[in-house]
Amino acid sequence: MKSQQPAKQRGRKPLQHTTRHTSSGRPSRVKGPCQACHETSDGCMRKAFDWPFPASQIFNDKGKPFVYLCNKCGLRYNKSAGCVCRHCRWVFCKEEKRKAMQFIDKMRRNRPDGHVDMDEDIEDFVCSPKYWPCGRPWKVGWVLLNNNQAQLDLEEDDHDSPASM
Ligand SMILES: [Zn+2]
Ligand SMILES: [Zn+2]
Repeated sequence: MKSQQPAKQRGRKPLQHTTRHTSSGRPSRVKGPCQACHETSDGCMRKAFDWPFPASQIFNDKGKPFVYLCNKCGLRYNKSAGCVCRHCRWVFCKEEKRKAMQFIDKMRRNRPDGHVDMDEDIEDFVCSPKYWPCGRPWKVGWVLLNNNQAQLDLEEDDHDSPASM
């Protein structure tokens, strides 16, 4: 089997993927606005797999669909392993995820059978994005079901690296 390049229908020679350490993006290819915050970033965009929403532009990497997120949302998407508010598309950072998990733990502890349903709202927890208002509750499943599913292309990772991987 010949290895197939994913849908690259431009007539020009493909620039080979050299690891370039520029942080100021490549304006030649439009990757669209961030699917989370809708900002059109001219900086580096990050691939986000397992994006839970229909997107205006869906790309493909070896058969795996992904969307582009801006640098900020993409980093958070990676660190929270894909925890996204289904109301406002706010992507959790690691801290928020940890906090949400604590609330879920608390719910479990308060129950005789220790069971919480994935469809339940997380008690006492509301979505509080940094950049826009939401204030809606999160479902337990948004935090728990996404564990380790999300993957992100971290080709241009930066100083903001996690303490534990
Ligand atoms: Zn964004
Ligand atoms: Zn929200």
